[in-house]
Amino acid sequence: MTLICAVIAADTPAAAEAMKVEALSAGAEAFEVRLDAFAEIPDDFSFLPTEKPVIATLRSELDEERREIFAKALTSGATYVDIESDSVLRGVFPKSRVICSYHDFTKTPAAWDILRIFRDLSSSGLPKAAFMVRGPADLLEIWKAAVVLKQSGDPFILIGMGAAGEVTRIRAADIGSMISYCAVRPEFASAPGQITVAEAARLGDDPIITAITGWPLEHTRSPQMHNAAFRAAGIQGRYVRIPSPAAELPLLPEVLRCYRIRGANVTIPHKQTVMPLLSEVLPEAKSAGAVNTILVDPAGRLTGTNTDIAGISATIAELRITPSNARVLVAGAGGAARAAVSCLTAAGAAVSVTNRTMEKARTLAAEFGATAVPRDELSAGYDLIINATPAGMSGFSQDIPVPVSILTPDTAVFDMVYEPEMTPLLAAAGDAGVRAAVCGKAMLIAQAAASFTLWTGIEADAAAMTAAFGGSP
Ligand code: NAP
Repeated sequence: MTLICAVIAADTPAAAEAMKVEALSAGAEAFEVRLDAFAEIPDDFSFLPTEKPVIATLRSELDEERREIFAKALTSGATYVDIESDSVLRGVFPKSRVICSYHDFTKTPAAWDILRIFRDLSSSGLPKAAFMVRGPADLLEIWKAAVVLKQSGDPFILIGMGAAGEVTRIRAADIGSMISYCAVRPEFASAPGQITVAEAARLGDDPIITAITGWPLEHTRSPQMHNAAFRAAGIQGRYVRIPSPAAELPLLPEVLRCYRIRGANVTIPHKQTVMPLLSEVLPEAKSAGAVNTILVDPAGRLTGTNTDIAGISATIAELRITPSNARVLVAGAGGAARAAVSCLTAAGAAVSVTNRTMEKARTLAAEFGATAVPRDELSAGYDLIINATPAGMSGFSQDIPVPVSILTPDTAVFDMVYEPEMTPLLAAAGDAGVRAAVCGKAMLIAQAAASFTLWTGIEADAAAMTAAFGGSP
């Protein structure tokens, strides 16, 4: 069993006491009291919690002072003191009262090296090691080491740090880690990937896990949306980030199986390259030439599909466009444009494609029976204009990807960009008095909702996802 350990980092004994009370009511089963967070180390240690196991931690160079403080903590009710493996205080206190810890803030070593570190730590106390997780390779090394560590039956603490390590915290029970360190509130989290006590208690030992992979993943809004949908549905589930550099993408299927991840979204730049790694790719994803959603069945078989198409269809419906007799212009010839062209042509729309690189527009149009039109030959007359380029997105060119002259009151505009929600194209569309205009937020939420339903069998609460769009995960 893994204990939910609340990290108490407060600057006064009174604040520590208040945090303890809050953590206990949220479901804390143990405490780590960060003595180094106090403005001044108190003389009286009666603030230490007595209800549950307590770990006293104090990172400091002042070893003599630390020795005294740790001795006092142990006589005042602390169950363990946390002592780093390279400290001169190693070996000073009884092994049964020490957590001997090791941190690597830059990487995760190979599994055999992790095991060597644990062998060394366990000679001085309960072994604890935390490693920075950078992607699938590191997650697998932690997993392989955990399999061996569990066989011994001796307690240990093993943590993957960083946003990519979150799945090791959520699967702490599978890993066999005796403790999972949690923040009392989100704003008190001492490391990326650390969840709150309340969230750990809500999830229990065996939650559903879903994930997103891509590279980089810092700016994704998907965790906020999916975690809101889990909470709204009352499901013990958590959506985690698994950033994956291209070279490590082939390891993703094994990570999904080991950590029992039920499904994953795939984003830039892996939507195409992930396809050969899957057991099956469903027809809509084949047609769109991209997978944005993976389903993992209980036997570990991976199926790829594409819910961007559901997102596009939902947005088009919101604009009150009937595709079967609509004239549509798609700007762009990448993955998002391809998804739009494939679903619109299948629905019977007359689709034109324009793109900065016209050769790509011609290839895309030819594949789906659409028409390629260079930008300087475009004229008014479209029922719907879709921007499927990053033009207008923060950090990208702020050009308008189509001539402003084709924005007329009979036209609706769908800009797939969602950050910012008002783009130069949408501003120009407003000035031109177009019939309707939307940004990519509705598409993003609709594709997320569709993925959620595929993984859980439950309809996602789109309002909860929308409300969480700009919030914290
Ligand atoms: P992609 O595969 O990289 O394709 C990008 C396309 O945009 C290419 O055709 C490229 O032209 C064109 N392009 C790039 N920069 C441009 C610029 N400054 N001006 C004009 N055209 C430009 O990307 P993608 O996956 O299709 O995504 C395209 C956009 O859709 C992104 O902004 C993305 O955020 C958005 N998107 C939104 C959602 C949603 O849910 N709302 C979902 C998917 C994508 P070349 O061929 O000349 O390089």
